[in-house]
Amino acid sequence: MIQYGRQDIQQEDIDAVVDVLRSDFLTDGPKVPQFEQSIIDYCHSNYAVAVNSATSALHIACLALDLTNTGLVWTSPISFVASANCAIYCGAAVNFVDIDAETYNISPQRLREKLENASANNEQLPDIVITVHLSGQVCEMEEIKSLSRQYGFAIIEDASHALGSIYKDSQIGSCKYSDITIFSFHPVKIMTTAEGGIATTNRSELATAMKLLRSHGVTRDAELMSEPSHGPWYYQQVMLGYNYRMSDISAALGISQLKRLSSFVTKRNSIAERYNNELKELPLRLPHQIEDSYSASHIYIIRLELGNLKSTHQEVFERLREKGIGVNLHYIPIHLQPYYQKLGFSLGDYPEAEKYYSEAITIPLHPQLTDNQIDIIIEELKNCLV
Ligand SMILES: *Cc1c(COP(=O)(O)O)cnc(C)c1O
Repeated sequence: MIQYGRQDIQQEDIDAVVDVLRSDFLTDGPKVPQFEQSIIDYCHSNYAVAVNSATSALHIACLALDLTNTGLVWTSPISFVASANCAIYCGAAVNFVDIDAETYNISPQRLREKLENASANNEQLPDIVITVHLSGQVCEMEEIKSLSRQYGFAIIEDASHALGSIYKDSQIGSCKYSDITIFSFHPVKIMTTAEGGIATTNRSELATAMKLLRSHGVTRDAELMSEPSHGPWYYQQVMLGYNYRMSDISAALGISQLKRLSSFVTKRNSIAERYNNELKELPLRLPHQIEDSYSASHIYIIRLELGNLKSTHQEVFERLREKGIGVNLHYIPIHLQPYYQKLGFSLGDYPEAEKYYSEAITIPLHPQLTDNQIDIIIEELKNCLV
């Protein structure tokens, strides 16, 4: 089976990990701050806080922005469940804003309408909007940022797909249009630390809060303590935190991977380019790229023009799998998950997201795909789109 995504591990990655295994610190050592600094340099943010997953990063990002059990988060229904679950972890409520028919990202128009309606009806406005850069295609952050000023919500960018993406001359992760940006380093993502994630921000108080939250709310920094130190052994718990730390093993892998990030992104884009050229005559809708932006091309999503096909969505999907093409579907709309249906969401709530779900298929895209594999994928797609 040709996998839809996979890691690229070379000898230098293995050496970096082995060096840590032979060193004094497997965790809480020098590699984590070093990795954070490399991400700061790459993204041009002021701060970075490395953690054990993007899910943890989303959780502590919400907490650092003071999300509580009376709070409200809005996000896109077309994302991994973690983009919404982070609000529930904080006891807050979640609501969704339908996607744009072309970008598959949160629609700034729908967002504006939903804010205007909520405001006119004296309903609760969101405390945080989580924008998801699906497939690496960036959201229209300028519009969303201007709405945030008008309606007073914070913005978290879920950039799990978008390390290496660029929006209007700024690197995603620079937080030019958001309070916090989070990335995932799961093996299928643009680069990996096995499990791992990171949050970037330009605001020191958010970075300080997230650093406390990732490690039990405990500090050894006298400036953060509420009473004088008892002695050199002293540490103080100043808030309720978690153990979301990244290990030095993961951080060393991250430092090593980051050195090849631009080559990963270039390779991904050259494969996407081939798909764009060679699939354009087929009854498919191919990814649309918004102006003034560059996508890291984490995944390549095709949408079937079902009106021009005899086969159903599921038949095409199954046929590709039978032929050894590891297709996938990103994502099942979050509001249709049983857990969210129990919270009151139902079929029909977000029509664009549901239409997308009935047509979308993710075809393989990762730096290790060979030309021969790409030929096979294109050939099999042509064969099964009848
Ligand atoms: C992968 C992913 C996550 C979760 O990342 P983990 O590092 O596995 O916790 C969250 N949001 C999106 C959009 C993702 O793709």
